[in-house]
Amino acid sequence: MDLVETVRNSGVVGAGGAGFLTHVKLQAKPDTILINGAECEPLLRVDQELAAAHAERLAQGLAAALEATGAKQGIFALKNKYHQAETALNQAVKAYPNMRLCLLDDRYPAGDEQVLVYETTGRVVPPGGIPPAVGVTVLNVETLYNVALASQGQPVIIKYVTVTGAVAKPATVAVPLGTNFADLLELAGGPTTSRYGLIDGGPLMGKLAGIGDVVTKTTKGIIVLPEGHSCLTTRQVPLRAQIRRAAAVCCNCRMCTDLCPRYLLGHPLEPHRSLNAAAYGLVDSAAHYTQAYLCSECGVCDTFACPMGLSPRQLHQEMKRQLAAAGVANPFRDRPAAPRREREWRRIPSARLLARLNLSAYNVPAPLREEEFQPAMVTIPLKQGAGVAAQPTVQAGAYVNRGQVIAEPPPGKLGSIHHASIDGQVVQIDQAITIKAV
Ligand code: SF4
Ligand code: SF4
Repeated sequence: MDLVETVRNSGVVGAGGAGFLTHVKLQAKPDTILINGAECEPLLRVDQELAAAHAERLAQGLAAALEATGAKQGIFALKNKYHQAETALNQAVKAYPNMRLCLLDDRYPAGDEQVLVYETTGRVVPPGGIPPAVGVTVLNVETLYNVALASQGQPVIIKYVTVTGAVAKPATVAVPLGTNFADLLELAGGPTTSRYGLIDGGPLMGKLAGIGDVVTKTTKGIIVLPEGHSCLTTRQVPLRAQIRRAAAVCCNCRMCTDLCPRYLLGHPLEPHRSLNAAAYGLVDSAAHYTQAYLCSECGVCDTFACPMGLSPRQLHQEMKRQLAAAGVANPFRDRPAAPRREREWRRIPSARLLARLNLSAYNVPAPLREEEFQPAMVTIPLKQGAGVAAQPTVQAGAYVNRGQVIAEPPPGKLGSIHHASIDGQVVQIDQAITIKAV
């Protein structure tokens, strides 16, 4: 069986972000495979910990991916402060003349795919495009780790998650898919405050979460923050209030635009114009709406740039939703772009970003703990990542073995296969399959 089929059967999707289907990515014919170990969001540690602990396996996985795609070179991109990962990977790639490391400054958003492609290869992905448009396939470290396991016949049933913030023992833990967040907090020694909120993901792009939420194939980390922390409260402002505030207080300083990483790459995205369009309706071009398609939702504009606490990002999320619902296509797709001259001195140091977000105190190690946690129950969503939801292949009451297929996409549809992450009995099936350990 070839690697693409093996990866599909193992249920590998991008281990973070939108969870793009990895077997689809591996069907491209790039000249370069770029392994994203930049850990874009501050506080998250999964990729750097895995790179340090499993460098050899990662190099083997990359060799398999290079062979399957015909790509000429593989690049591991790491921040230059990840010394253990750098040492381990440098050793591991010695056996492969077509692999190398590329070290990056500690800036945000270094791990944004389009920023990463430019920093490592000098190529600019066209606005609205994806890295294969310039001959690059990007996989993050944990995704590559899962490709390596898949090549040995192992399905994706374990997820690595950083649990950090206001917890007693920040850690990066290995848990079966479907483990709930309450269990994760216990693994990190529990919260250090009685009233807290949770962010699923990083402090910039993560979303508010609850204690009953579960680990999926795209969960990268959870951050526990004291109630009232600005990273929680800014996510609670409704869009309508954002637009009213924009009309009242936007001073048109255009800091949101001048620091926008996509604008600095030369993409025609000027977030201050979206905000003006929404607040006043004063537009001389429909592009002030459709440019929302170019927004990566990195959060630089609202968490770092705007002196008035406004959120072009939130507005772009809603604009994208409404434009897609109205059938308006992205008009910018694949237009060439060139980085702006000022980009070099406008990249944001992560330390300054953390200070601005009042998170410096939580910027601590979260060491890898690989002893596997045994939950009493797991809840495995039928949709985890891109594509359609899978359909159950088991029934309530059935006994399943760890690694057994429990759901598959409908015939002819793109989606991910899911496997039981523990031995147990299926006790419920709805939008997820719940398995109780026996
Ligand atoms: S979230 Fe803001 S800064 Fe980031 S790409 Fe979108 S508009 Fe630019
Ligand atoms: S940074 Fe804030 S105040 Fe300045 S133009 Fe952008 S949204 Fe308006």
